[in-house]
Amino acid sequence: MKVFKFGGASVNSADAVRNMAQIVKQHLTAGEPLVVVVSAMGKTTNLLEKLVPGVTPKEDAARLRQQLENYHREIAYALMPDNKDVQNDISTILVRFDATIKQLQKGKGEYNYSYDQTVSNGEVLSTTIIAHYLNGIRVKTMLADARQLIITDDHYREGHVDWEFTKGTCRLMMDAAKGYDVVLTQGFIGSVKNSDKTTTLGREGSDYSAAILAYCLDAESVTIWKDVPGFLNADPKYFDDTVKIGQIPYNEAIELAYYGASVIHPKTVKPIQNKGIPLYIRSFVTPESEGSAVGNYHAISPETPLYIVKNDQILLSILPRDYSFIAEDNLQVIFGILNELGIRVNLMQNSALSFSICIDNNPQRVGVLIERLKSMFRVRYNENLQLITIRYYTQEVIDSIVGGRPILLEQRSRSTEQIIVPAL
Ligand code: ASP
Ligand code: MG
Repeated sequence: MKVFKFGGASVNSADAVRNMAQIVKQHLTAGEPLVVVVSAMGKTTNLLEKLVPGVTPKEDAARLRQQLENYHREIAYALMPDNKDVQNDISTILVRFDATIKQLQKGKGEYNYSYDQTVSNGEVLSTTIIAHYLNGIRVKTMLADARQLIITDDHYREGHVDWEFTKGTCRLMMDAAKGYDVVLTQGFIGSVKNSDKTTTLGREGSDYSAAILAYCLDAESVTIWKDVPGFLNADPKYFDDTVKIGQIPYNEAIELAYYGASVIHPKTVKPIQNKGIPLYIRSFVTPESEGSAVGNYHAISPETPLYIVKNDQILLSILPRDYSFIAEDNLQVIFGILNELGIRVNLMQNSALSFSICIDNNPQRVGVLIERLKSMFRVRYNENLQLITIRYYTQEVIDSIVGGRPILLEQRSRSTEQIIVPAL
């Protein structure tokens, strides 16, 4: 059994849905359903984030709520002008949505909880429309509610999967799906064990949903359909001559995700690696081309340098006020604060008298961090930096990318070079 995942960009219009449905249709196999995981349409998740109670003033929220409705109704209508049921189903979802928002407003509940109950509706809308459409073109589709499949703890906005329970619910679902061509379900969402509370798995979490289902169902493979031809050695936004990497070992994919490559969600690789399930990245724009594969390989192929650029970085140098050494006790305090504020360190280095960290320059969080640190340390910082990671570097490649800029910090291992330079 295979798992396919389609992201927001692949279902952001009626034409996109038609294209996605053709891809699905071409990959049906006799005897067992194809499991299809779909995200919210286009930028719906961003819009829903603004509808979380307390985020947006009332009038603006009313306008956005209308936008949410029009967008989905129009796509459904363009796809199925004669289908009244799909419009009725959209109404049902929206009536429930409005009631949920009202209740959340009254309850003044915790933000993360409200977030999940609100934002999860994007995937519910997209899969409802797509299920109608697939059935309409004679692809026999069972819509499975991911909230009854992916069971998590109550860590809202980053639900931790209960693997045993989820395995059980997934198997039951597959039994019920006998005779269907497709089992369609939502990415990104799940629910708290033994409750009706919705959880989400973190932004861009639909890839992870696909990996969870693949793991629980012992799938043959996972295919993520994207708007890029596969896994590229660099972001085409910053580099002209990108190279597609055809084969990527699991560990390499995890390393790349760790350094910030955005093609694969960091959590996605682990479950499928555990079971040796291959992950394919293919283009929904040119579905006939081969794409990239993450699997049990020894090395990337073709062998070529890989570049990951993180923009808008800030480099903090932290020095004890009394000129004492940076030692374990100081580091413990610093990491305690970072952990408490949920700040991820992209690169760190220490010397006898100072400790440097490179982090994303989120002004709010960084402001709080500096305030907290200042009570015990002296803090210096440089803003507007780029963190460039090069796997399989050569000196020539480094020189060309640095382009004469001063290097503020550099770390090199046998395979990986990381440098911090001022932004261009
Ligand atoms: N719709 C969610 C998001 O935009 C999940 C996903 O697309 O993977 O973050
Ligand atoms: Mg997405």
